[in-house]
Amino acid sequence: MTSLLDNLNPEQLAAVTLPPQPALILAGAGSGKTRVLTTRIAWLISTGQTTPHGLLAVTFTNKAAKEMLARLSAMLPINTRGMWIGTFHGLCNRLLRAHYRDAGLPETFQILDSADQLAAIKRLLKALNVDDEKYPPRDLQHFINGNKEAGVRADAADAWDDWTRKKVALYAEYERQCQKEGVVDFAELLLRAYELLTRNEPLRAHYQSRFRHILVDEFQDTNRLQYLWLKLLAGHGGPAPAAVFAVGDDDQSIYAFRGADVGNMRDFEREFAVKSVIRLEQNYRSHGNILDAANAIIANNSRRLGKNLWTEAGAGEPIRLYEALTDMDEARWIVEEIQSLIRDGAARSDIALLYRSNAQSRVLEHQLFSTGIPYRVYGGLRFFERQEIKHALAYLRLIANADDDTAFARVVNFPTRGIGARSLELLADSARTYNTSLYATVPHLAGRPAASLAVFVRLIEDMRQATRDLPLPEVIDHVLEHSGLRAHYRAEREGEERLANLDELLNAGANFISEAEDPTLTGFLAHASLEAGEHQADAGQEAIQLMTVHAAKGLEFDAVFLTGVEEGLFPHENSIQETDGLEEERRLMYVAVTRARKRLYLTLAQSRMLHGQTRYSLKSRFIDEIPPQLIKWLTPRQAAQRYYEPSLEAAHRTPPRASASVARDTGGFRIGQLVRHAKFGEGVIVSAEGSGGDAKLQINFGGSHGMKWLMLGMAKLEAV
Ligand code: ATP
Ligand code: MG
Repeated sequence: MTSLLDNLNPEQLAAVTLPPQPALILAGAGSGKTRVLTTRIAWLISTGQTTPHGLLAVTFTNKAAKEMLARLSAMLPINTRGMWIGTFHGLCNRLLRAHYRDAGLPETFQILDSADQLAAIKRLLKALNVDDEKYPPRDLQHFINGNKEAGVRADAADAWDDWTRKKVALYAEYERQCQKEGVVDFAELLLRAYELLTRNEPLRAHYQSRFRHILVDEFQDTNRLQYLWLKLLAGHGGPAPAAVFAVGDDDQSIYAFRGADVGNMRDFEREFAVKSVIRLEQNYRSHGNILDAANAIIANNSRRLGKNLWTEAGAGEPIRLYEALTDMDEARWIVEEIQSLIRDGAARSDIALLYRSNAQSRVLEHQLFSTGIPYRVYGGLRFFERQEIKHALAYLRLIANADDDTAFARVVNFPTRGIGARSLELLADSARTYNTSLYATVPHLAGRPAASLAVFVRLIEDMRQATRDLPLPEVIDHVLEHSGLRAHYRAEREGEERLANLDELLNAGANFISEAEDPTLTGFLAHASLEAGEHQADAGQEAIQLMTVHAAKGLEFDAVFLTGVEEGLFPHENSIQETDGLEEERRLMYVAVTRARKRLYLTLAQSRMLHGQTRYSLKSRFIDEIPPQLIKWLTPRQAAQRYYEPSLEAAHRTPPRASASVARDTGGFRIGQLVRHAKFGEGVIVSAEGSGGDAKLQINFGGSHGMKWLMLGMAKLEAV
């Protein structure tokens, strides 16, 4: 047992061995938070203070949960199966499966991922004849999820005008539709689990007395509902609350756009009367130059709880900066550099390519692919989100739960069975009249459409019968064959990759039953919805790791290439107008930089193709926030290029200079220049696209006008 605690510094040791009381470990990147949390679990169990059964731990991703379980098994001779370690969504799913009746759900309830949810909302709007220009489905999705994440049901939602009243009414309709179909979206998993424990006293008492220790990683990115759920489960305010052990880093809060609320850290400290907040300041991950850069960048944020990191590791290599002419050049250079790292003995899986936006991965992938270097993309178009996989899953879902209208609508006519839109409309109308699911309505229908729909229903019934007692991979195989999906993609000209993916689904099923606790079809479908992007990332694969900065949170790599470090891309143009947005981007930059152990590369391109357009940009302001002596420029430094400041005030302070790369053909205007527009007032040119008569300028007018793209030929701009 001592060996368990051997490799901890005094602060870490203090944190691991705290008595059972509310605790907050507030510490920067790479200071061992996750390690402390995992070690504490092992310590609690090995000292007999709890059993594997008596604690619950929340991680941010399923991947992190798996890693934690693997480390625990290495530290202790215990069987980690059945331990409640997972993401909020995963744990809530588990709770609802165990108590589906009390939660008011069918046994085989299905989970809607974000795309399914949007499809369900569109279907609803159509059925109700709602103008989707006035009530855009995406907006409504955001509205519904926002309310759910704040713990607000439709009957309690605020409505201050007619437009919002209508949205609330649609929220209520959506709730009814989901209930009827036996499906829950992501936010619903949490809200349902929360309501279940609120309403059901005996159940609450059961779990409160069972989980005496609750441990939460990445606490800074919890949202309001998650915090409330934790509070409830911990029996906060009751006679014998559980010991909540939270670790987090306010500087790494990067999910505000999804409702995460750093304020939870302050509330936790106050409401749980946390006696000692432990800070860890020694970083064990990165070499000194990398850490100094991270510290310098984050120091520019104003709202911080404040901490600094140091390391014993020595300065290490400088941060390498490469400025390419185009995104293609950038990718080419990165791949050459990767090849040389590999020649020097680096393992491919220790090298990561990070980017701010998913769209950037295409060029990088292309270059890696044509050089024959194996790589894996995390996130992006996720395996379980691919069209062919979603089709296959829809068949499987109908077998598990025939009332799932989203699944029904997806495959009733795929592959084509001659069921037209008109028949489906008739069906949807009757379903509303009878208040039954589409599937259950089919027998009520008369006439020709009824016949082809009945054939579909029979197909699903036959598949259900035939697969009843088969193991999961055989169920999948049967469905791929009998649904006609395989035949469909075999006949498609570029269907090979899709067929390969369908086969991969068989493997996913086989893997699932070898690992899962609930190796059923329903269990597999829940896994497919919850794990989405993480499936591809199987750790054994020796491949370069590609992912967004968001997806890289909590991970570490020997070498990190952070690409596209340009104004407008990183910080993202949508965020630079507000301080909050910019500070969140800076935290994201801090997360990116602190992923690197030994080598950090920053790369940028003067021009890149993005969303079908060429954009010209300047280096990111974040580069200027790194002390220059830490950086080694691998390309001649473009002295003339200066980053612009978003506020006009700042633009006045910093006289704009010509930018070599964009001054050419934009009517004499330059990036960084201050201009006046008749309607929008004064603004700063941020970037330019096209040239000559087609030139467009992106201008930041600040205030209520914000960022605008203007055609140079039309805009009548004056230099100020
Ligand atoms: P992040 O904020 O990025 O999630 P973290 O604070 O969770 O980082 P960990 O991932 O737990 O940090 O630790 C970072 C690295 O430092 C890991 O490789 C970990 O094994 C190592 N480490 C942590 N503490 C020690 C220690 N006392 N001695 C040696 N290595 C350590
Ligand atoms: Mg961590």
